[in-house]
Amino acid sequence: MTKIGLEIHCQLTKLESKLFCSCKADYRNLPPNSNICPVCVGLPGSLPALNKKAVEKASMISIALGCKIPEKISFFRKNYFYPDLPKNFQITQYNAYGSASIGSDGTVQIEEKEIRIRRIQLEEDPGRLVYEGSSQKTQITLVDYNRAGTPLVEIVTEPDFENPRQVRIFLNVLADLVENLGVSDPYLEGAMRVDGNISVEKGNRVEIKNVGSFRDVEKALHFEITRQQSLVNRGIEVAAETRHWDDARKITVSSRSKEEEHDYRYLPEADIPIIRIAQDRIENLKKQMPESIAAKKERYIKKYGIPQQVADVLSSDKFYSDLFEKSHTEYNAKEIANIITTDLMGFADTREKKAELKLTNQNISDLADAIVSGAMTRNSGKIALQEMVKTGKPLSDIMSSLDLGNMNDASSLEKIIDEVFAEEEKAVSEAGQNPDTINYIVGKVMRKTKGKADPGMTLEIIRKRLSF
Ligand SMILES: [Zn+2]
Repeated sequence: MTKIGLEIHCQLTKLESKLFCSCKADYRNLPPNSNICPVCVGLPGSLPALNKKAVEKASMISIALGCKIPEKISFFRKNYFYPDLPKNFQITQYNAYGSASIGSDGTVQIEEKEIRIRRIQLEEDPGRLVYEGSSQKTQITLVDYNRAGTPLVEIVTEPDFENPRQVRIFLNVLADLVENLGVSDPYLEGAMRVDGNISVEKGNRVEIKNVGSFRDVEKALHFEITRQQSLVNRGIEVAAETRHWDDARKITVSSRSKEEEHDYRYLPEADIPIIRIAQDRIENLKKQMPESIAAKKERYIKKYGIPQQVADVLSSDKFYSDLFEKSHTEYNAKEIANIITTDLMGFADTREKKAELKLTNQNISDLADAIVSGAMTRNSGKIALQEMVKTGKPLSDIMSSLDLGNMNDASSLEKIIDEVFAEEEKAVSEAGQNPDTINYIVGKVMRKTKGKADPGMTLEIIRKRLSF
């Protein structure tokens, strides 16, 4: 059986400062090596001071993943030499000497499967290597320490995944969860990075590093399953090794031999005291935590009668569920949920497109009211929405400028139907035998009225005329 486990590095992007100093946690788009100080570049004599907020945010992730939070946490030095690591050790957590990391023994439910979380630890991110040109061809490698020391939470799962599809679902659930908690923006470049380990039946464990995106995680795992299985089938042993994902060639490639745990020479970080986490602080934190995605979904279904699938999609997208929360009333909640999930999400599905949306909370609320009250059809609603997202103009302006009011006065509708009957004699004569033809005629009327005819009323008039 295939077994897959994950190590996910998630940056705490919503913090003001780095994990052990007061440099900015938001290192993106700054001139190279401008966001550094003696602490984060590890100058002799500098002392780290733990960011309390980072402990809180990491605890929130622990709680949300059902982990136990220990009474005491402490930090360790993980020693290795790499140009992006200025101190030659990374301050991280390690379960040893009676100490523990910020969380352990959690679970996440994905569909019918339970994924166990082994542990969660708080640590610092290293700096970044920047290659001039491509990393294969260049002679010059630069290092930028702006990222060094930014807060990172590492989430380690048990090898509970059986296939790459479960991994993808889990990663999406996790990204939604940290976004909903307001601790991280998982869609920022490099904010969530995934390493995987995978073994097939009768094979050794192989680690995969350096995978850039969620989609590539799935591809890399598929590639590894095929590679390892073909080795096993030919009676060749699968080597226990670390491989990295070659994005250009879409294959995994064997990397340098991996350090063993003991190569890291974990040592207690003596410059940071052992931290006691009082139980009442955890209880307080639980109270401050935002409503979980699951609870939100339940509420949408129970309180507003929103269909399960719609509630599922709406509750897991923080941007759109926030929009829903701010715009709905008891009267139009179901319709707003419908507009968001069927039209708006298709229209603006990326962060950039969401940021460009001009529509206001009032806009979408008015639009839903108009549809619920029958002042306009869903079809006209779609047209109005397209205008709203571009201009943010009030619904009343859009309705009059685009002439989107509902055609629900029967006499003008009758006239249009007269025209269609005259044009479609053949279809009209067949309508008695073939009920599909009626839909065809209704469709013609809708097209002629640009979707403004009330479908129910149209059908009623046509039926009456055909007298059945
Ligand atoms: Zn610093």
